Amino acid sequence: MTQSLQADKTSKGFVHKPNSNGHASARRHAIETVRSRTTIAPPHLENVDIPVNEIFGTNVFNRATMRALLPKNVYKALIKCIDEGERLHPSMADIVANAMKDWAVSRGATHFCHWFLPMTGLTAEKHDSFLVPTGEDKALAEFSGKFLIQGEPDASSFPSGGIRSTFEARGYTGWDPTSPAFLMENTNGKTLCIPSVFYSFSGHALDKKTPLLRSLESLSKQAVRLLHLLGNKQVKRVTCTVGPEQEYFLIDESFYLARPDLINAGRTLFGAKPPKGQEMEDHYWGSIRERILAFMMDAERELYKLGVPVKTRHNEVAPAQFEVAPVFENSNLATDHNMLLMEVFRKTAQRHGLRCLLHEKPFSGINGSGKHNNWSMADDQGNNLLDPGSTPHENEQFLVVLTAVIRAVNQHAKLLRASIAFAANDHRLGANEAPPAIMSIFLGDKLTEVVRAIISGKPGEGKASKFHAIGVSMLPDLPRDDSDRNRTSPFAFTGNKFEFRAVGSSQSIGWPNTVLNTMVAESFDYMAGEIEREMKKSGDLKTAIQAVVKRVLTENERILFNGDNYSAEWHKEAEKRGLPNLRNTIEALPAMIEPEAKKLFDKYGVFNEEELVSRYNIMLEAYCKTINIESLLTATMASTMILPAAIEYQSRLATAISQSKAAIGGLNLSAEEGMLRDLCNKISQLHNAVEVLQSLSHETADEETHNDPFSHARFYQQRVIPAMNEVRTAADELEIVVDDSLWPLPKFREMLYIY
Ligand code: ADP
Ligand code: MG
Repeated sequence: MTQSLQADKTSKGFVHKPNSNGHASARRHAIETVRSRTTIAPPHLENVDIPVNEIFGTNVFNRATMRALLPKNVYKALIKCIDEGERLHPSMADIVANAMKDWAVSRGATHFCHWFLPMTGLTAEKHDSFLVPTGEDKALAEFSGKFLIQGEPDASSFPSGGIRSTFEARGYTGWDPTSPAFLMENTNGKTLCIPSVFYSFSGHALDKKTPLLRSLESLSKQAVRLLHLLGNKQVKRVTCTVGPEQEYFLIDESFYLARPDLINAGRTLFGAKPPKGQEMEDHYWGSIRERILAFMMDAERELYKLGVPVKTRHNEVAPAQFEVAPVFENSNLATDHNMLLMEVFRKTAQRHGLRCLLHEKPFSGINGSGKHNNWSMADDQGNNLLDPGSTPHENEQFLVVLTAVIRAVNQHAKLLRASIAFAANDHRLGANEAPPAIMSIFLGDKLTEVVRAIISGKPGEGKASKFHAIGVSMLPDLPRDDSDRNRTSPFAFTGNKFEFRAVGSSQSIGWPNTVLNTMVAESFDYMAGEIEREMKKSGDLKTAIQAVVKRVLTENERILFNGDNYSAEWHKEAEKRGLPNLRNTIEALPAMIEPEAKKLFDKYGVFNEEELVSRYNIMLEAYCKTINIESLLTATMASTMILPAAIEYQSRLATAISQSKAAIGGLNLSAEEGMLRDLCNKISQLHNAVEVLQSLSHETADEETHNDPFSHARFYQQRVIPAMNEVRTAADELEIVVDDSLWPLPKFREMLYIY
């Protein structure tokens, strides 16, 4: 026994050493390994004394580098291409490619890759060496504009939702000059990564970046049109700004390696609620443990080098849960940077003997993780369109923009809900901790008063209501402090931006932002059209604005809700208001392919119908695959780990009873017999539940009954998930009765607390 407890000195990870306790030794070994971890050696200690501003962006081919390395005319053309969307002449692309290569090679890069965001939701890269043999036993480093602009990966294995048939299996990657190239470091070298879009031979988007860029283009166009109409004529472009706050868990790697469910599903499929959960509220903003802080500092330093402006770090609500937030950037860059952040966090955690869990709900019964997508828009002068401003004119523009966003969320609530729908997020949304599945907007008291005053046409009681005619008097100061926050709202106004809180922690923010931008573009278009129409009637801009804002706010007021979004009353109230309550992925996704959605995406040039339907199919497929993996794992772990442990305990109890009987005749063994009976019942419950689950896996494979992806997915949701839950319930009940020394899986009370 003691021997099997010794940490294996030659390997960082868990090494199974069979003994009479079987799997239980794996768990004990994990705990011992954590205990035996001595120092946390930050792998980049040599960098620690370098001032942070000197590190920032050193691995990025950023504007300063471009200016230094490119001829003036090329630099200017490239900046025009980045800022104003102008095409870069191919001859210039060659010069940029060459400069980029020289820069990368001088810093130790051997390879380059087009770095893109396929529909897997992850990042993808295929590396090519810069080296070209010269034929004289030498090699040159080469990189031309052609390779910079377009790549042709063998992309037939990425999800396409039916867009690519085999005869046109080719997918192309294309340089996105608006997101700077960067060097990804490895202990053995560096790779130049070129952020890219990914599309099919026929020009269909196969990734998350292309539609995002299209939605930004469309939003800019409609916003500029609206602003010009309001008299703000100097604006040429509008961008979206995004600052995603990222939640995540960190646990010791040894525990992770002893949990097949974490390894294969990213979340625990078993685990009784620990005696101590998060009820003490002692983790949130608590002092950060030495080991965790060492990880954070290391990861942040990596991100600084990549130009990712991470700013805030703190302990989150759940034990072992943390948050990191960057300074906001334009939406495209923020999306790439968030993908990089997740990647760097995963990698760095491993260097520290930790694992970073980005799943939305790694531990049932404990708070899950999300991403708060702080979102706003800015014009090319740097003015935030959701900043109320300080002059009546600024107030007026703000109210028109705000009204448009309110309308967008109300009109397209189902689509917004669909943008955050996937299997893992179902564990959060609608449960009692995260934003609910009902989309609504929190404005805060003061702004709500203003809206009410506009709707009713007369000032109310409060101070804010003195403001009642747009453009006539001033808006009251709107609070931006935390006290006025509503943490339960899925879409909250926080002073000068909206915070979309229902986004999942593992999810790329590309898709929800694509939806958000598109629906707001549509709303801007609508507002502009209505104001123009009203102007024809009254001939006066102010009167037209007032009439339209009042009418649109009145029509869309139902989406505003400042109260507790978790309460049962809100659910009733929302139903009365006719707000959709799409409780899970299966209920939410069909909104994507409703005629209105098809029209919306098509009209604003974000997706044609084929692209949209393919995405819908990809999401349904991903749902089925996720639940399928989880159900297979559930059955396997129950049969091969949990039942054997329970039966071993059963055997010990039975032996104890018969030995006791043999030792002393007539002994009262009712306690032991009761325990044994109870245990046997629980074992049989678990066994039955596993059989039911396994029988379903034959049905899921039945092509006849599930010939369309939706009915297939619905089968998983309606039949497989409940069967999995039954297995879990039975197993978790066993966890609290079976001899602790026999239990094979690291328990919540260990994983969440031992570092
Ligand atoms: P809060 O306390 O409201 O969450 P913070 O200032 O901490 O506010 O910001 C949270 C996130 O919101 C940060 O990532 C921040 O950069 C981002 N943010 C701030 N202003 C904007 C904006 N105009 N557009 C998008 N994101 C923003
Ligand atoms: Mg926030």
